[in-house]
Amino acid sequence: TNPTITIDGPTASGKGTVAQLVAKALGFHYLDSGALYRLTALSALRHQLALDDEAAIAQLALNLPCRFVGEQIFLEQEEVGNIIRAEEIGNAASKIAVLPAVRAALLQLQKNFSAPPGLVADGRDMGTVIFPDAEVKIYLTASVAARAERRFKQLISKGFSANIQDLLQDLTERDARDLNRSTAPLKPAEGAFMLDTSDLTIQQAVELVLKQYEQ
Ligand code: C5P
Repeated sequence: TNPTITIDGPTASGKGTVAQLVAKALGFHYLDSGALYRLTALSALRHQLALDDEAAIAQLALNLPCRFVGEQIFLEQEEVGNIIRAEEIGNAASKIAVLPAVRAALLQLQKNFSAPPGLVADGRDMGTVIFPDAEVKIYLTASVAARAERRFKQLISKGFSANIQDLLQDLTERDARDLNRSTAPLKPAEGAFMLDTSDLTIQQAVELVLKQYEQ
């Protein structure tokens, strides 16, 4: 198997940015598993499926026509890298992510990202379910306030409108769904290195993760 670093944690904790930079530093592949849930949600909305139609959404997920090309993310022929970052899609993603058949349908697709020379995988259940044998497991957190501010900046920079009050509420609702669902709830993997990034710069967080890998 290929060396693997898993980075799990709640939404807007900085996982994505940190994971991408760690992957770049090591020359590893990068799996943004949240993007797969977001793509599935976008596809479900476009097919006008109810977000609790487990069988139909699992079917979509099983044949998800997506491609990752550098920083670009395609659904069918369309580049949707920005579209899937919308708060509406994030919320829909967290709703379909509670469905066990949807999670099962995305399992193999996620495992297929593992390739030489190694992988950095970011999500909620990377260290607990998808890559339980990973060499290094990180649990990245930050205060709700810090996360709301990060998400705010991210949304604004992508041309979305946003307000902190709504974001705080979204984050709290999404945390509750991710933490309390019965399948693959968000929790630190056994032996995970706990990293609170509230008061860290991105570069400091990246260095701490790299240090865990080099040990
Ligand atoms: O990380 P991101 O905010 O892009 O994830 C969107 C949603 O997808 C999360 O709120 C979560 O419910 C779900 N997700 C998941 N398991 C993962 C990654 C994301 O359930 N491994």
